[in-house]
Amino acid sequence: MATKKKSVDARALLTGLRDVSRNLWWSWDFDAQQIFNELAPRLWETSNHNPSVLLAEISEQEILARLANIDFALRVQKVIKHFSAYMKQTQTWASAHAKLLKAPVAYFSAEFGFHESLRTYSGGLGILAGDHTKSASDLGVPFIGITLFYRQGYFEQRLGVEGWQQEEYITADTHKLPILRVTDAHGNPVTISVQIGFSIVKVAAWKLMVGRSTLYMLDTNLPQNEERFRDITAHVYGGDTTTRISQEIVLGIGGVRMLRALGISPSIFHMNEGHSAFLTIELLREQIANKVPLEKSVASVVKHCAFTTHTPVPAGHDRFNRDLFEYAFGQKVSELKMTVDELMGLGRIHPTDQNESFCMTVLALKMSRSANGVSELHGHVSREMWRPLYPKLTTEKVPIGHITNGVHMKGWSNPVTDAFWTEKIGPAWDEHFLEPAAWRKALSAQNISDEELWALRYRLRRTLVEFARRTMQKQHARYGNMTNAFENILNPDVLTIGFARRFATYKRAPLLFSHFERTLELFNDTKQPVQLIFAGKAHPRDDEGKKFIQRIIDLTKHPQLFGKVIFLENYDINVARYLVAGADVWLNNPRRPLEASGTSGQKVSIHGGLNCSIMDGWWREAYDGTNGWSIGGDEQPASEQVQDEQDSQFLYDVIKYQIIPEFYKRGANNVPAQWIKRVRRAIQTLVPQYNTHRMVSDYVKKYYV
Ligand SMILES: *Cc1c(COP(=O)(O)O)cnc(C)c1O
Repeated sequence: MATKKKSVDARALLTGLRDVSRNLWWSWDFDAQQIFNELAPRLWETSNHNPSVLLAEISEQEILARLANIDFALRVQKVIKHFSAYMKQTQTWASAHAKLLKAPVAYFSAEFGFHESLRTYSGGLGILAGDHTKSASDLGVPFIGITLFYRQGYFEQRLGVEGWQQEEYITADTHKLPILRVTDAHGNPVTISVQIGFSIVKVAAWKLMVGRSTLYMLDTNLPQNEERFRDITAHVYGGDTTTRISQEIVLGIGGVRMLRALGISPSIFHMNEGHSAFLTIELLREQIANKVPLEKSVASVVKHCAFTTHTPVPAGHDRFNRDLFEYAFGQKVSELKMTVDELMGLGRIHPTDQNESFCMTVLALKMSRSANGVSELHGHVSREMWRPLYPKLTTEKVPIGHITNGVHMKGWSNPVTDAFWTEKIGPAWDEHFLEPAAWRKALSAQNISDEELWALRYRLRRTLVEFARRTMQKQHARYGNMTNAFENILNPDVLTIGFARRFATYKRAPLLFSHFERTLELFNDTKQPVQLIFAGKAHPRDDEGKKFIQRIIDLTKHPQLFGKVIFLENYDINVARYLVAGADVWLNNPRRPLEASGTSGQKVSIHGGLNCSIMDGWWREAYDGTNGWSIGGDEQPASEQVQDEQDSQFLYDVIKYQIIPEFYKRGANNVPAQWIKRVRRAIQTLVPQYNTHRMVSDYVKKYYV
């Protein structure tokens, strides 16, 4: 007998597995995910891949029995060991490079996107915060995230028969999430309070572990609060401006108070977007309460804060009018020894201009020692945008720098890609994101053949096609359409374009349909066919975005587009993971310069996907002529109309004359050599640069220490 006779302690393994399930580390460990999947494949799928649900619903008796299978038990043991070693690791990037960072970074963000089972995000901002947290953990940077606990999260998107988006909210069962109520030494919930208007609102917290990073999620849903305050934290960006200012008071002011209640003294407060900027007012109040004069108080706050701005879209910068501001802060000004107007002045470009509303971005800029945009171009656009705040400076001297966004590569890979890089680079392939040389070497033809890369592309495309068929089938079964029409949509041999992101109108999802005869020409070519998969949610109050969705869904029914252009409902991290892996080309056609960075395109490189994008955000600095395609050049016309028209023609042209011919130009081995060359270039130049390990290391070096 070749089997190893090893005995395992099943009970200890069960305990270890529970520990693993309570830390989102498993969300970027594929061995752990495989264990959960194997335990109950159907439940794994229906729970949206939630180990807490699995371990709550599978009987202990079953798990203990299953652990008697020695192969399974050994794999569980390996995952537990791996997790425990990760948590105890002391030799990290930070231990070598960030010695000055003694106390943790407190990173405030209105949303965090970690995994599909936790609906606490709406889009790119949240995903970025989630990826930042994961990389901080991997790098060993002491890191604490602060956000709100949205018990109904962001909505699930359902598409009606007419293609109109419906929003469905699902209340989270806190027992089936990897979160714990934050309690004091006696086991009582730690609560702090904030004042909103004349009322005192109590705030409790949930703790979530993300590897070595800790996240505190603030929650007003407490019996001691009046009914109307319990829902402040119900939805991601829910409600009206009163809800918005209340959420931001809880996040900023409540966040600082919660940290104090827990005895945490951060070395720096990092505001991820302006939503949390009220934290500076709380820090100011602390100083003033200690009898520090105002000017010194401000200086002290500035010394401890850093700010990242994320959008040049005006609606992305929260503004509150005087009435609302006075309602929210009227009672607080006496503690600050300021008038309402003096306080409002902190959020105004012209402090004494009574007609100017209060802007969170202005507050954040004034109260931070550093500010940055999220790509080189966005840094420039932000300096221009906020120049009025610095009237004595030229645009280039405005103190807003940039750190280009990235993605957490391991988290955005999948078991197939992970196995590929494990074979080509080694099991620690995800530790080389700060080493371009390692990727150059890995991508040599001696190490990886064209055929191997093409095989990977085929496998990932096939997986996406099958996922899309399943999803469409499910979607239509709901309408009572029990047809098999969706079993044959899409084709795994065909060039596949992906377009998925929030349906904000500046992202121009329907751009490829601007000149319909050109659209049909592309999709009707039977020799060199192309197919396109869309996904994305519109904000519940964005009717224009919903109209875009409706229009695209309508077009998917066009007889000459059916089965070639499809729209997958309920874009979330899970759908994204299939799309970024399976798409050959990731399409991004925003109205420049409104896409501050964009990150979805950064997720495709690790899978050998290619970007085709407007020269906006991260792509403007990443594109080098060999690693993807650009739609148009590095300039933009003054008129939006002209811009949209030009860009649509550029888009048709690049797909028709560059992308399609290259994909279908096959050599003797039936592999598109030129295409694969571009794939190699993309992986080499993009993976070691546009990842959050590089991004977090930049934040540490430039802004945190
Ligand atoms: C990456 C991601 C985004 C951000 O996409 P952009 O193209 O940067 O706007 C939004 N939503 C989900 C689910 C994502 O995974």
